[in-house]
Amino acid sequence: MNHQVHDIEFSYSKSKRRTASLFVERDGSVSLIVPEELELADIEDIVEKKQAWIYRSLAEWKDLNSSKVEREFVSGETFLYLGRSYKLRVSNDLKSDLILRDGHFLIKDTKLSNCAEVFKSYYREKGLEKVLKRIEYYQGKVGVNANDVRVRELGNRWASCTPEGNLNFHWKCVMAPLSILDYIVVHELCHLHHANHTDAFWNEVDKVLPDYKKRYEWLKHNGAGLDIVG
Ligand SMILES: [Zn+2]
Repeated sequence: MNHQVHDIEFSYSKSKRRTASLFVERDGSVSLIVPEELELADIEDIVEKKQAWIYRSLAEWKDLNSSKVEREFVSGETFLYLGRSYKLRVSNDLKSDLILRDGHFLIKDTKLSNCAEVFKSYYREKGLEKVLKRIEYYQGKVGVNANDVRVRELGNRWASCTPEGNLNFHWKCVMAPLSILDYIVVHELCHLHHANHTDAFWNEVDKVLPDYKKRYEWLKHNGAGLDIVG
């Protein structure tokens, strides 16, 4: 249930913890986790006191999400592959549901109720081919060996790794330019040396990609635009 202080809408949940935490969630909503004994008035008090921080965080959230797109599955709409936009065109005589040819994404039928799924499986399949090639290129430079590599739905994360050296990449990674995909790949490979984002970790990334900060910033500011539905 949503509550409001001034024009700030928020929701909260209670937990056994001793202190309250305040979040601006990935969807731009404001939420709190508070100790069980707090009353609504106390919680409103916290929101009131923190309003400057909340407004600042919401402004930053808006800024980071301004590149977010809403794509429709109609002829002429553009879709990304490795940082380039390709217009969608319907082509009824295709053998597969979706291909990239002659500078266009050709789709068998835009009336398919599962257009998003068709694109996702395209990105997963092509993404895996591409990611495997980039891993092959970079793992010698990083000095590690990746184990099992997968491209899949990863929620809010671009990539993840396990202590066993298994790497997962979000299918959206393949919508980014190659230089950004390379950054994500090198970042994960370096985690096979250092699990956390320590100085030693970033030093490892820096050895392979001296301009990694630029790539990281690009991803931070354009990442929300790498999607097929809003
Ligand atoms: Zn990381």
